[in-house]
Parts: sequence; structure tokens; C-alpha cells
Amino acid sequence: MDKETLDKINKFTRRPLREEEIYAFPVTLCDNDIDRDNERFSDEALLTLSKLFVGKTGIFDHNPTGDNQTARIYDAEVVVDPGKLTKDNRIYKYLRAEAYMVRTDKNADLIAEIDAGIKKEVSVSCSASKNICSVCGCDRRITQCEHHKGQDGCHVILDDITDAYEWSFVAVPAQINAGVTKKYSPTKEEKSMGTEFTPITTKAEFDAAVKNSVDAAVAQAEKKFEGWKSPEDFAALTKERDDLTAKNKAYEIAALRVKAATEKGLPLELADRLRGETEEELLKDAEALAGITAKSAHTPRHFTPDNGSTMDGIEREFYAKNPDLKNN
Ligand SMILES: [Zn+2]
Repeated sequence: MDKETLDKINKFTRRPLREEEIYAFPVTLCDNDIDRDNERFSDEALLTLSKLFVGKTGIFDHNPTGDNQTARIYDAEVVVDPGKLTKDNRIYKYLRAEAYMVRTDKNADLIAEIDAGIKKEVSVSCSASKNICSVCGCDRRITQCEHHKGQDGCHVILDDITDAYEWSFVAVPAQINAGVTKKYSPTKEEKSMGTEFTPITTKAEFDAAVKNSVDAAVAQAEKKFEGWKSPEDFAALTKERDDLTAKNKAYEIAALRVKAATEKGLPLELADRLRGETEEELLKDAEALAGITAKSAHTPRHFTPDNGSTMDGIEREFYAKNPDLKNN
């Protein structure tokens, strides 16, 4: 053990330890690969954890009794392994920590086990304030998106680590790839630890507690409706659309009038006199008008002033032929 390592360890001890009193060993706390819960740490989270875990004690076999054997992490760093890829083909990175124990009679067996490479798994407990959906990037602590963990390439990225609590060294049955390489095996409880419940007693506290969620929801809604129109814009657009529709309708009817007039043999100058909203109505009106004009052609009307009044030529003709009838 070099002096630098010894110095690092002795920063955490009540009295300076001698090298022969110390048992130091590496432990992989966690990595950036997708775990069995379909979750993974972000690169940033690994970096944060590498700082937060220094000085943290680890327990063995989840035995929280007073005299359980403990080790302490005195150094940690993110290690990049370019020769290995994660399940989703990113370069594998892991958080490698250096831990030490004070050699005692009680932990001699444990040290022997670690030295012997008996397989161990490590679980870490920490608090991640962001659970990001790998598909859409939303924070699932705030929004529930349509993606499901473990389906269609969706996993959750643990980000924005706020605290690291402890790490546990758990013995598991020996397997083929036995070694002191640990696997991150978090449980829900461990990951959510740290979100301690503090009773809210005032409105200000409540407002503060919900503000972030509300802000996030508002931001999300704004993003969703980005590019949408305000009610005023919408009213203007509606009017524009209605105007255009009316204009189109007018053009359409004008065209239909010409068509109906042509079809029924009416002079085109009479086309815009035709009444009706549909082609059928216009044709009917054109037919009627054509009938009248045809009749007029046979009985031309001559309007002649007579006794200060106007008399239809037809009437005039009628009275001319029937002089016995009184004409008034
Ligand atoms: Zn999503």
C-alpha cells in the first residue's frame, strides 16, 4: 500500500492506522448499464455518486446490528471500459470504489472470503430526483408518459442524484463468473430512500412543495401547445375561413347560374337574376324564367301611357278586341 492510499484512509480514522491494520479492497458500486428493474444511472449520476459515496460505510448481508462488520469507502471514481458495451450499446462505465476495513478477529473470515473471490453483490441506496424516460425524455416523477419500462426500448434513467446513503455487500451463491466484481442490485425501496416525509402544516409549505410540480406541468403544457393560437388569433382565423367559404360559395353559385342559363337557353345577361342556392334550384328557376321569356317573345308587351296610367299591351289588345267591355 502506498503512502498516498494510507493517507486517504487515515482521513477517515480516529487515529492513524498502520498499513498492517488495514484491509483494502475495490468494489464496483454501480454502473451505467440497464439493470433488472430496467433502470440505469446517467453518466452525470455516476460522477455525483463517486463524490457522495466517499466516506460512506457499507454493511454486510444487510445486517444493521451494532456489531455488524463494516467497511468504509475512502476513494471512488468512474471508470470507462471502452471494450464493453451496455445492453443498449453505450460504452460501459462503472463506479469503482476503494474500501477499507480494520482487520479484526471478527472479520478475518469475511476478509478471507473476499480474498478468495467469493461472489458478492453490492447494492447502493441513494436518492435520484429525476427519473427520466429513455424514449421521450420526460421526468416520470412529474409526468406519466405513454412509455412503459421494459417495453419497446424504454428504460428509466436515474439522474440528478441528491444523496447517497449506504452500500451493502450481499453474499450470493457462487456462480461461474465468481469474483469480487459486484453488481448493482437496487430495490425500489433503496432507490426511493431519502425522500423523507415531512408533515406540511402551512399553506406556504404546501405551495413550496407543489411549486416544482406545478411549474413543470405548466412548462410541459406550454411546450405541448407551443404554436397553437390564442383565442383572438383563433377568432380571426375563423372569420377569415368563413369569409373565404362565403366567397367560394358566391363564385360557385355564379358559375352555376351561368351553367343553368346556358342549359335552359337563357341570355347570359339574365343569369345573375336566377335565384337559388343549389344547381337544382337554379335550373328550376332558369326553366321558369325561360318559359316566361319565351311567352313574352310571342306576346310582346308594349307599355303605353293611357289616362295617366300604364297599361299592359296585352290588356290593351284585349280591350281593343272586346270594345263592349268597360275599360277602367
Ligand atoms: Zn416516455
